[in-house]
Amino acid sequence: MKRSKFVIIFPSSIDNMFLLYNTLTGSLLKVDEPTAKIFTLPWEDVNLNSIRPENLDILTQFSFLIPNEVDEDKIFEHFFFRINFEATSVTFTLIPTEKCNLKCTYCIMGQEKNNSTMSLEIAKDTAEWMINYLDTIHPREFFLHLYGGEPLLNLKAIELVSGRLKEFCRQKKIEFSISIATNGILFTSDVAKRLKELGLARASITLDGTRDFHNQTRPFPDGRGTYDIILKNILKTKDIIDIIINANYSIETVDSMVDLLDELSLYNLQKKLRMVKFSPIIQNIRDKKPIGCSSLSNANLADIHVRLREEAIKRGFIPQEGIGVNICGVTRAHDFTFDTNGDIYKCPAMAGIEKLKVGSIYEEDFSYLYIRFTTMNRWKKCRDCPYLPLCAGGCPYLALLNKGNIEEINCERKFLDGVGGRILEQDYA
Ligand code: SF4
Ligand code: SF4
Repeated sequence: MKRSKFVIIFPSSIDNMFLLYNTLTGSLLKVDEPTAKIFTLPWEDVNLNSIRPENLDILTQFSFLIPNEVDEDKIFEHFFFRINFEATSVTFTLIPTEKCNLKCTYCIMGQEKNNSTMSLEIAKDTAEWMINYLDTIHPREFFLHLYGGEPLLNLKAIELVSGRLKEFCRQKKIEFSISIATNGILFTSDVAKRLKELGLARASITLDGTRDFHNQTRPFPDGRGTYDIILKNILKTKDIIDIIINANYSIETVDSMVDLLDELSLYNLQKKLRMVKFSPIIQNIRDKKPIGCSSLSNANLADIHVRLREEAIKRGFIPQEGIGVNICGVTRAHDFTFDTNGDIYKCPAMAGIEKLKVGSIYEEDFSYLYIRFTTMNRWKKCRDCPYLPLCAGGCPYLALLNKGNIEEINCERKFLDGVGGRILEQDYA
C-alpha cells in the first residue's frame, strides 16, 4: 500500500478536521488529524496500524491509498490521452468577426488587430467543413462557441453556420448547442429568440463592476457608457436563455465587483442567472493582447478570487465552477477555432497568429503543428505535482508568450495552493 501522489490536503477552517482531495478521481473526504497524518508525515514515519480499519478501507476505496504496484504516471498518461482523443464530444469556436463596437481600456484588439469580418461565402464553406468533420467523427454531442471581436456584429454569418449545423445534427441525432461570448450591446430579446431557435443555450455577457467602473473600462469608442444598455438587455433576455455574467476584475475594482452583486440582487437575478464568473484581467507581457480562456488564473489574485466567490455564494448567486479537471483545448484532438478567413487554430487566443495556425478549411490536411500540439507531453515536467490532473502544465499559449516555448509549462501551483482548500470548503462544507 502507498499514498496516491494526486492527494492534496487542507486544514478545514470550520473545525479541527482536514480535507483530502484526490485531483485525479475528484474524491473528497473529511478526515481527523491521525488520518490526515498519513499524508503529511514522511512515509517511513506513518503507522497504518494506528488507523481505524474502516478509515483505511475508505481511503483505499477512494484511491487515496493505492496498491504498491500501481504506477500513477501510467494512470495519468492514460487519462490524459483518453480526454484528448475521445470523440464523443466536439467543440468548435467560430470567430465571425474581429470587429468590436466597444473600446475597452484593457483591450487593444480594436486598435491593433485586423478588423476582418467573415464573408457569407466563407461562412458557408466553414459550415460545410464542420459538417464533413462531424460526419467523420460522429460525436454524441457538439458545442459551437461564438467568439469575437463582438460576434453579433456578423449575425448573418452566425445564422448561416448555426442553421446548417443545427439541421445536420438533427438529421444525425447529435446533441447540438451554441454558446456565445458577447459584450451584450446587441443582445436584444429579438436576437436572443432568433438564436435560441438555432440552438443558442447560453450567453456570457461582460459587466466589469457597477455603472461607473464598467463605463470607464468598457465604453463605446466615442466614450459613452454601455452599462445601462447591457443591463437592460440582460433583464430582457434572462428568461429566454441562460446568462452567465462575466466580470473582469483588477485589484483596483474588487469592491465594485461586490457592489455589482448587490445591484444584480436588486433585480432578483440570483435565481435567473446561470452563473456569475469573476476573471482577472490578464494581459500578456509582450503585446498586451487579452486572452480569453476560462482556465486562466493569476497567483497574485488567489485571495480575491476566493473572496469574490464567497460574496457571490452569500448573496445566492451560483459562482463559477470550483476545482476540477481542466484540460486545454490545444491538446484536445477535436477542439478547433475558425477565424474570419477560414484559417483553423487550436485556441481562440491564437487566432490570427500565422505561425500558430494548424490548418485551413481550404486545405486537405492539418499541418505538422497540429500533431505537435495534440501530442505535447509537457505534463512529464510535472510528475511530482499533485495538481497535475487539474492543470496538466498550465496554459501553453501563456508559456509561449512568457517563456518563448509552447512546450514549456506555465505553472499555476501558487494559485492552486492559494485557492484549493477554500474553494473545496465553499462547495462542499
Ligand atoms: S492555450 Fe491557454 S488560452 Fe488557449 S485554450 Fe489553452 S489554456 Fe486556454
Ligand atoms: S504547471 Fe505547476 S501546478 Fe501545473 S501541474 Fe505543472 S507543476 Fe503542477
